[in-house]
Parts: sequence; C-alpha cells; structure tokens
Amino acid sequence: MSGFRTGEQKELVRPTTKQEVIEAGLTYLEGVGADLICKVCIPSGGSCCLSCPFLNDGVGCGQRNTSCTSWLCGFLKYIYYEAGLIREWKDFWDEVPGQQFRYDTTPRDFAVRGWLEPPKLRFLSEAFADDLQRLRRDRPAFWLVELKGKLDWYIDEILDSNNPKFVKRTEAKLYRLTSDFQRFHQAKAQLN
Ligand code: SF4
Ligand code: SF4
Repeated sequence: MSGFRTGEQKELVRPTTKQEVIEAGLTYLEGVGADLICKVCIPSGGSCCLSCPFLNDGVGCGQRNTSCTSWLCGFLKYIYYEAGLIREWKDFWDEVPGQQFRYDTTPRDFAVRGWLEPPKLRFLSEAFADDLQRLRRDRPAFWLVELKGKLDWYIDEILDSNNPKFVKRTEAKLYRLTSDFQRFHQAKAQLN
C-alpha cells in the first residue's frame, strides 16, 4: 500500500484503523445478508471455519481479522457477483495490508482510498438461502460443498478473464448451475 498521495488523489485517501475496516466489512456482509447463507451452510458441513484453532465452540470466531473478513466463499462470491458488488469489495480489501491465512499482520493505523457503504440486499441472500435449504434436502451430503466450490471456480475464471466470449460462456454455465434456485432468480430480477 502506498499510503498518502498528493495532488488530486489526496482527498480520496482516508485514514483508518484495522478495527474500523473489520467493522465496515462486517456491516457490509450483514447488508448483503451473508449470515442467512451461513446458517444453512454450517449445519451442512460447509463451514469455512472448520478446524480453525481460533473457533470457540458455541461462541464463534475468537480472533476476528482482516483476512477472514475480506475472504468470500463461493456462495458469497456468487451473490456479490450477481449484485455487481464484487469489484468494489475486492478493490477495497486490496488496500488493506497484512492479510494472511486466518490471521493478519494489518497495522493498527493505515489509510485507504474509498470506503465501503453497506448495501441493502438481504432479500437476495434470503432467497438464495431458502433455495439452498430446500434443494439440499434431496441431494447427497457433499452437494452443498461441491456447489460452493464450483461457484467459486467459475467466478474466479470470469474475474481473471479479459475475453468477453469466455465470460459469456462461463456466465451461461453459472446460470445452468443455479437454474433450480428459483427464488433467488426471482429476487435478482428485482435488481434490474
Ligand atoms: S463457507 Fe460461506 S456460507 Fe459457509 S459458513 Fe463460510 S462464509 Fe458462510
Ligand atoms: S480466524 Fe477466520 S477461520 Fe478462524 S474462526 Fe475466525 S473467522 Fe473462522
């Protein structure tokens, strides 16, 4: 991170703290409705905190950090992508130094350009979580985890590509993969 800038860019730079960016991230995730999807994912064995030494039984995360706050699983990546939020989320967290795996070395004080304004999109994740809950009943145990992995893979491929035809083809695969998510697609139509 380059820190404070000069000239025209100066007013875009915002001093902040590690605690403040974590809180901004959590508020944003709440605005997206991430918790609603986690409530279906965790009892199905999909938890991303599985076997983490900082996970306290019945309490949750004992060491909230910038890395885990910024990280998106396949389900959340998909919701962010479909809602057009993924670039702003990634751009913001690219400004936050010291992200590691399940911990951070983020300094207490630093500066970022831009800020995260929480969206009001809980209805979208609510619809997705309802579909996920309904569909998982008739599927094998590994289905949910496999789906999460595929969504993650497709979206990374889209984000890494500069080829519009490839992006279109991959979006079509995403659509086929989620074609049974009827409530979600109806909810998504409200965004247009
Ligand atoms: S993998 Fe995703 S949906 Fe599952 S618990 Fe983690 S953040 Fe929540
Ligand atoms: S450090 Fe990360 S992986 Fe570990 S419990 Fe906290 S949020 Fe979960």
